Amino acid sequence: MKIILAKHIGFCKGVNRCISLVEQEIKNKNKVYALGELLHNQQEMLRLESLGVKVIKDIKELNGLKDITLIIRTHGIEKELYQKLLSQDEIKIVDGTCPIVRKNQIIVEEYSKNGFNVIIYGDIDHPEIKALVSYVSPERKKYVISSLEDIQKIDISPFEPVILISQTTKPVNEYKKICALLKTKFKNIKVFNTICKETILREQEIENLSKKVDMVIIIGGKNSANTKKLVSIAKKYNDNVVSISCEKDVENLKIEKDETVGVFSGASTPKWLIQKIVERINNDTK
Ligand code: SF4
Repeated sequence: MKIILAKHIGFCKGVNRCISLVEQEIKNKNKVYALGELLHNQQEMLRLESLGVKVIKDIKELNGLKDITLIIRTHGIEKELYQKLLSQDEIKIVDGTCPIVRKNQIIVEEYSKNGFNVIIYGDIDHPEIKALVSYVSPERKKYVISSLEDIQKIDISPFEPVILISQTTKPVNEYKKICALLKTKFKNIKVFNTICKETILREQEIENLSKKVDMVIIIGGKNSANTKKLVSIAKKYNDNVVSISCEKDVENLKIEKDETVGVFSGASTPKWLIQKIVERINNDTK
């Protein structure tokens, strides 16, 4: 068996930055709290929790606590909540929001303040989109669409100013189709190419490599949107695609000794986990 490890693998820059900030706070012996999961990877979250990070679901859980650090996750949080947190003197806020995600929040805030309605291509329940939507001025119309079909739901007249922006991890080809259709519907539309380069490179690599290998293994969290997207791209080019999230999942893999296997990961999968899984695959197929 031969393993081909993807070039673009492990944490993306945004996740890497957030985890480095957390590790620095731990090193400084601060009491570290995270508001929700910092990233969509259970194994990495367990590692951080074992180092002392406490995950809370609601800021009410911080009532009465002093001299603590609260980390904001890579996907960002809602504007109102962020402002509320900043006003609390006894909490040190460390903002792990990816700078690319933050830039999109600023675009949405500025343009909607200046009269533009907002159309977002993304998943309405994804934390990045929940946060992004909160930056739209209340007097503007806003729509989150996840497919070409959803365009029918948009109730904005063709002459009103509109911006179109995408979740950073959505498939670039779908976004292009949505852009093309919306440009025919709106006379005053400004389109932002906000799909992250890291995700585009991963998409291109998985497309190319999936055509050449016997099997594709994608390592990532079960609720990671970008991992799911990589799985669906790989399935277009390869009939033998498996998504796994931990070392134990290797037990269920069926790999023949003469096969070539391509290994990929989502943007929130740590390299230490990939290494462990690859070692386990190698050992199990000896
Ligand atoms: S995928 Fe891109 S935009 Fe999203 S967190 Fe990573 S670097 Fe930031």
